[in-house]
Amino acid sequence: ERLISSAADYDDASLEYSLRPKQLREYVGQQKVKENLTVFIEAAKMRGETLDHVLLYGPPGLGKTTLAAIIANEMGVQLRTTAGPAIERPGDLAAILTTLEPGDVLFIDEIHRLPRAVEEVLYPAMEDFCLDIVIGKGPAARSVRLDLPPFTLVGATTRSGALSAPLRDRFGVLSRLEYYTPEELAHIVKRTAHIFAVQIEEEAAFEIARRSRGTPRIANRLLRRVRDFAQVRGDGTITFLLANEALEQLQVDRLGLDHLDHKLLKSMMEKFRGGPVGLETIAATIGEEAQTIEDVYEPYLLQIGFLQRTPRGRIVTPLAYHHFGMEAFDFS
Ligand code: ADP
Repeated sequence: ERLISSAADYDDASLEYSLRPKQLREYVGQQKVKENLTVFIEAAKMRGETLDHVLLYGPPGLGKTTLAAIIANEMGVQLRTTAGPAIERPGDLAAILTTLEPGDVLFIDEIHRLPRAVEEVLYPAMEDFCLDIVIGKGPAARSVRLDLPPFTLVGATTRSGALSAPLRDRFGVLSRLEYYTPEELAHIVKRTAHIFAVQIEEEAAFEIARRSRGTPRIANRLLRRVRDFAQVRGDGTITFLLANEALEQLQVDRLGLDHLDHKLLKSMMEKFRGGPVGLETIAATIGEEAQTIEDVYEPYLLQIGFLQRTPRGRIVTPLAYHHFGMEAFDFS
């Protein structure tokens, strides 16, 4: 398991709930998304209506689930949570929809993974708050229309491009979450430290923030690991020196890259002079699946400008070479 993976692991699941801000004003960063949602929520409440359906998209760990819970909380309604892969048949969705209370928020994570047949049941549910279900088989089959309580669907996806156009069109609000700045992440780290009742120096919070790949989930995870070091090796306070030492020990470098990122970049530099190299070739060289490289390794390396995609393959940028030139550690 990668310490800097942006996907939730078993350890996170238990803790994340307690770390989640409950109100929009506690939710750090994502200023535009927050401003818009504040207005839409306020307006819906003034009119006594349910909030329009909301699509949240962006990389894992940026706060989509958190935001869905906040929306329900701010609207004063219940949150129901499920995920695309968990809804296999139209009947599964119908079972959820028919138990909603008026105004409830239904959160569907990984909504791009809903089966097509389920998606088609969702369209009239989103548009007209009704379900068309077929009863019986063969010539006796007939379609009945069931009314549903009005509800708000909050969908989350890591790839808006993977969503079908008819589904995307049925969302009234589309919000894209961005990677967080180090300042925002430092704020989140300090907030989490406060919840953990642990002292942390300002500079230590920033050091953790800088190595967290723009992602709150990673920031909180690194903080937990650093807290362990502070407890065992220090007096419990997370100082700048201690944070630095712990993070080196954990092999997370100054930009949040780990040995797997290093392996990928170094093999491209050493074996292919920095590219261009095709994805399949990189995959074979480092012994990873091409899909994993594309979904897991690449996004952050592209984001910080260490990799570029060209029609002829991936290339390592001068920025990445510079980083390794200054690197004290040699992970090879
Ligand atoms: P996603 O659903 O996008 O994968 P989550 O909503 O599960 O991400 O967030 C992961 C963790 O990061 C949660 O523990 C949450 O508390 C924290 N987090 C995310 N966004 C914020 C934020 N804006 N402010 C404070 N904490 C956040």
